[in-house]
Amino acid sequence: LLVLGIETTCDETSAAVVARSSSGASDIRSNVIRSQIAIHSPYGGVVPEIAARAHVEILDHVIAEAMRQANLSFSELSGIAAAAGPGLIGGVIVGLTTAKAIALAARKPLVAVNHLEAHALTARLTDGVAFPYLLLLVSGGHTQLLAVEDVGRYTRLGTTLDDAVGEAFDKVAKMLSLPYPGGPQVEAQAAQGHADRFAFPRPMLGRREPDFSLSGLKTAVRLEAEKLAPLTDEDVADLCASFQAAVVEVIVDRVKAGARAFRDRLGRGPTALVVAGGVAANGAIRAALARQAAELNTRFALPAPDLCTDNGAMIAWAGAERLSRGLHDSLEVSPRARWPLDPVAAASPHARA
Ligand code: ATP
Ligand code: MG
Ligand code: FE
Repeated sequence: LLVLGIETTCDETSAAVVARSSSGASDIRSNVIRSQIAIHSPYGGVVPEIAARAHVEILDHVIAEAMRQANLSFSELSGIAAAAGPGLIGGVIVGLTTAKAIALAARKPLVAVNHLEAHALTARLTDGVAFPYLLLLVSGGHTQLLAVEDVGRYTRLGTTLDDAVGEAFDKVAKMLSLPYPGGPQVEAQAAQGHADRFAFPRPMLGRREPDFSLSGLKTAVRLEAEKLAPLTDEDVADLCASFQAAVVEVIVDRVKAGARAFRDRLGRGPTALVVAGGVAANGAIRAALARQAAELNTRFALPAPDLCTDNGAMIAWAGAERLSRGLHDSLEVSPRARWPLDPVAAASPHARA
């Protein structure tokens, strides 16, 4: 199968062509990603209206470039996949409508992909991981532990009750006047600082349910920063280091709880611990999770950074996985701002997807 994938749910405009053989082998033929970070950084965050307009302006070029690099015409494709949500609705409409137009003109099946499902299945594209596995999804908008049991079978074991991990990094960066996006800045500062200077809280530590809560930690950083103001460079570095150390400890503990919940549910351990989402770019978090996977006696799979953050290849791959099971969608399918992966999660009071 040869599938074109389109991603426009947030601030990346991306198109890619991915091949999937009947045995499940994969090949990324192209993966063109245009980030809008420079456009949004003066505002300190993604501005939905501006994002949608930027997607409109460049998506056609991005798709043409992805097809050119793959050396293919639309008629040679097996299907067209687009992220149909969850995300910023303006951008989702742009990508899904474009995919529908191509599918209609080229008479190819359309696959409306759940963006979170695409993150969840990326480790099968990059590392050929077998079901069932334990997924930690940590991005700017989501923090979830999932049992990935099959294509279309995802059980949410835990989620954040308030902020996403990436969101907490971004907010801490903002209160310390570091530029957007804050995650990489906080990590760089943390490398210069002393993690033991501030004893920040570790919310949810030891709790049986594999849920997260980060707003208390974020508030503790704010209070400390206000107490110290005006901040020296050393204060900033120490605050970042102490914050990051707390986050690392919480994540490791929550993954442990997630592994227990996984075993309770499936009666077996996971084939792998998989991490996805932009926060997986953090070196301290990566190293701690690799150690945790070893302790759990399971494989550790971490896609390359450009496949952890939003990209078209993961959409194309999820489309190929669905097509290989005979699944596709009608041209009437609607874009969705909210679209939880797990039907049970959809009914939960703190569903965030
Ligand atoms: P979603 O995929 O949930 O819709 P998103 O598109 O904002 O959200 P990603 O693009 O996957 O998410 O990741 C961006 C997030 O990752 C930002 O919050 C950013 O601060 C965070 N991040 C990136 N690099 C690092 C890092 N080195 N350390 C910590 N956080 C990081
Ligand atoms: Mg992003
Ligand atoms: Fe994403």
